Amino acid sequence: MAANQTILVVGGGIAGITAAVEAAEMGYEVHVVERGPSLGGRVARFGQYFPKLCPPACGLELNLRRLVRSRTVRVHALTEPVRIDGELGDLEVTLRTRPRFVTEDCTGCGACVEVCPAERSDDFDYGLTTTRAIYAPREPALPATYVVDRRACPPGCAACVSACRYGAIDLDLEPRETIIRVGAVVVATGWQPYDAGRLAHLGAGLEPDVITNVVMERLAAPSGPTGGRVLRPSDSRAPARVAFVQCAGSRDRNHLAYCSGVCCLASLKQATYVRSQAPEAEIFLFCIDVRAPGRNEDFFAEVARDARLHVRRGLVARITRDGDGRLRVEAEDAETGRKTAEAVDLVVLATGMQPSLASSDEGASSRIHGVAVDREGFVRAGGAAKGIFAAGCARAPVDVAAAVQDATAATLRAIQTVGRRVR
Ligand SMILES: Cc1cc2nc3c(=O)[nH]c(=O)nc-3n(C[C@H](O)[C@H](O)[C@H](O)COP(=O)(O)OP(=O)(O)OC[C@H]3O[C@@H](n4cnc5c(N)ncnc54)[C@H](O)[C@@H]3O)c2cc1C
Repeated sequence: MAANQTILVVGGGIAGITAAVEAAEMGYEVHVVERGPSLGGRVARFGQYFPKLCPPACGLELNLRRLVRSRTVRVHALTEPVRIDGELGDLEVTLRTRPRFVTEDCTGCGACVEVCPAERSDDFDYGLTTTRAIYAPREPALPATYVVDRRACPPGCAACVSACRYGAIDLDLEPRETIIRVGAVVVATGWQPYDAGRLAHLGAGLEPDVITNVVMERLAAPSGPTGGRVLRPSDSRAPARVAFVQCAGSRDRNHLAYCSGVCCLASLKQATYVRSQAPEAEIFLFCIDVRAPGRNEDFFAEVARDARLHVRRGLVARITRDGDGRLRVEAEDAETGRKTAEAVDLVVLATGMQPSLASSDEGASSRIHGVAVDREGFVRAGGAAKGIFAAGCARAPVDVAAAVQDATAATLRAIQTVGRRVR
C-alpha cells in the first residue's frame, strides 16, 4: 500500500516555513499548524540577522511569498497537534484549534480596534507594549486577519461585534478538535527564551535596565516599541556604557546545561546596534569564552576589531545598583581569579534558547503525544521509524542558516517516507 501523500509541518517559524515550501514545490499537499495567530516565529521579531546584518523580513517575506504562491499548502493558525497516532506512512493527527473570533469576512478596516476598551500585553514585543484585546498580527503576517484575545475582554463586552459592518466577529466560537491523516510529519516547534525570572542574582525582574537579548532585539527592530532606537527602559535615554552578560542561565546545571551556540553571536550583533547609534559608547562583553562556530568566526573577528568593545573573560557573579544609580556588574576574571567590576547604564542578559517542547518536569514526555523529547525538551532522533522528523531549534539550538538546512533535510526525509510502499 502506498503511504499517505500529505505532509504535516508543525510550527510556522523559519524552519517550518522552509519545510512547507520545499515540500509544496515538489508537488506535495502540506498542512502547516502554528500555535500563534500567524507565521514567522522568533525571527520575525529581530532587528537584524547575523552574519550579514540584513533585516529578517528579507528571508521571511521571500519564503512567505513562495508559500502563498503554492496551491498545496494549508495554514492552520492558533492550532497545535495534541497527539500523533498510527504507523509509518499512515499517521492520524489530532489538532486542537483555538478560535480567532474573527472570520474570513474581515476586511481589515480596523473599526473594531477603535471601539475596543480593553488592553493586553503584547507578547510579540515581550510585554514592552500593549494592544487592544482585538488586534492585527504583526507584519509579515500570514494570515493577516485580526484576532481577539478573549482573556483580555471585559465581561459581557461586545463593542467590536457592534462596530463590525461585515458581521465578521463571533465571540461565541469554541475551541475545536479535528483529525487529519498524513504520511509524515516535520516537527519545527522552535524555541522560547529561557525564563530570566530565574536569574534574580543578575538583576532580572528587579532592575528595569537589566534586559534580555530578545528584548534588545525588539528595541533595535524598526517595528519595535522605540522604533529601532536602543534606549534604557528606565528613562528612555541612550546608554553610554552597555554590558552583555553571556551564558546567563546557560552551561549551568541549575538552569540550561547546554550552550545555545548563538548567544555570543547575537550579543556581538547587538553590540553593532549600540555602536551604530552611539559611536562613543563603551561595550563590555562578559563571557566564559566566545563561541562563533563555522563561518560566523569571520563575523566575530570583524566586530571584535571595535576598540570600544572590551571582552572580559569571567563569569558574572552579581549585578546591583551602585550609589551613582549605575548598574554594577561584578565578575571574577577567568585568568587571574581577581574580582572585577564595571559600572554601566544598560545590561543585556544573553539568555539561551529552550526548546518549545520543554516540559517543566524533568524527563517528562513532550506535550505532543507521540513525539518523544529528551530531558531538555529537544525532539529525539528515533521518530524517523514512524515518519516523524525534527528540524530547526526543535531538534537542537541552531542559527537561521542551520535551521533552513535542517528543514530542507527533514523535508527530504519526509518526502522519501511518503514516496515508499508501507505495507
Ligand atoms: C537573541 C537571539 C538573537 C538571534 N539572532 C539570530 C541572528 O541574527 N541570526 C541567526 O541566524 N540566528 C539568530 N538567532 C537564532 C534564531 O532565532 C533561530 O535559529 C531561529 O528562530 C530558528 O527557527 P525555528 O523555526 O527553528 O524556531 P522558531 O523561530 O522558534 O519558530 C517555531 C514556531 O513554532 C511554533 N510552535 C511552537 N510550538 C508549537 C506547537 N506545539 N504547535 C504548533 N506550533 C508551535 C512557534 O509559535 C513558532 O512560530 C538568535 C537567537 C537569539 C536567542
